[in-house]
Amino acid sequence: MTSGIQIIGGGPAGASAALAALREGAGARVFEKSRFPRHKVCGEFLSPGILRVLDDFGMMKAFDTLGPAQIRRASLCFGRREKSFRLPEAACGLSRAAFDHLLLRTAEEHGAVVTHATATSFDKPTVLARGRHFASTARDRGQRLFGFKAHFRVAVSDAVELYFFDGCYVGLNAVENDLTNVCGIAPEHLLRKFNFEQDEFLRSYEPLRARLRGAERVMSWLSTGPLRFENGFRAEPEEGVYTAGDALSFVDPFTGSGLLAALRTGTIAGQFAAQERPVHEYLKSVRTVLERPFAIAGIFRWAVTSGWAGRLAPLLPGAAMFRWTRP
Ligand SMILES: Cc1cc2nc3c(=O)[nH]c(=O)nc-3n(C[C@H](O)[C@H](O)[C@H](O)COP(=O)(O)OP(=O)(O)OC[C@H]3O[C@@H](n4cnc5c(N)ncnc54)[C@H](O)[C@@H]3O)c2cc1C
Repeated sequence: MTSGIQIIGGGPAGASAALAALREGAGARVFEKSRFPRHKVCGEFLSPGILRVLDDFGMMKAFDTLGPAQIRRASLCFGRREKSFRLPEAACGLSRAAFDHLLLRTAEEHGAVVTHATATSFDKPTVLARGRHFASTARDRGQRLFGFKAHFRVAVSDAVELYFFDGCYVGLNAVENDLTNVCGIAPEHLLRKFNFEQDEFLRSYEPLRARLRGAERVMSWLSTGPLRFENGFRAEPEEGVYTAGDALSFVDPFTGSGLLAALRTGTIAGQFAAQERPVHEYLKSVRTVLERPFAIAGIFRWAVTSGWAGRLAPLLPGAAMFRWTRP
């Protein structure tokens, strides 16, 4: 067993890697470039499986005090066609400002040393949990996907609502303090039509205009991108480097499963790094966790962009699809 591991990135993957390494009796040093709490572009939908991970780390009480919203249903809207179903288990809505802060603070309380700085090099063993990492090319321009989010005060619902239109989608779900997070992904050429004014863009789609009528936005829009859905769990292993979370695999966010994947791969990475187990064994283990959700999300994205998802909406096995897209 190693005396300590280094972790690059203190998001959900990095914090869970630290907690797992500490549980193995190893030290953990986390480099995080941002100061927490900070907002982050995300649907802030927490899959039910996250509660099991938090429980395993003894964090449920602290989590509950943050007042997460309960999400019991899903509603998918494809123009005039809709598909609603009850989630197989209740999920939660909580801002990333609160969630990420809780995770990193807990790791620190358990003995992780957190340095707020950008890591430019690393000692091994390292857990690489620095989030999405992708350089776009001029060739992609126009087609590139961008994400955006803001919190609103609007009628609160116990459903996660997803609106699919024109190659984009916008999701709404409740978070703490009776607020609703509105988060979407759209291609650049479409956003440009609205001068990258997200309010204008949302108002251009009638079902969203109706849903957000009278809503008050309580923070500035945040955006991120370009986004690319890709995975590195088949990459050549580099000994001593355990890549986790979005740095390993970025799945289409409509699944709302990225955070669970980050916590699960972070936990496995922290454990394997602390035990200095071979990286190819680590990658084999995380492939088992991620392969199916990644494949199913790809099929669903194709169905949405080709228009088939709307046509088949009434036949979609909602609850089963929800299960298949969980890591
Ligand atoms: C539009 C959108 C909507 C989404 N909606 C959802 C959702 O509703 N539910 C869900 O489960 N998932 C969702 N996701 C996915 C989710 O946000 C990610 O899967 C999750 O953030 C991954 O966690 P992570 O720890 O791997 O990376 P991150 O959360 O990105 O954390 C990485 C951390 O590393 C730090 N960092 C980076 N480089 C360095 C460096 N060199 N040195 C020091 N620190 C560094 C960053 O500051 C950051 O805090 C969404 C994603 C997008 C883009």
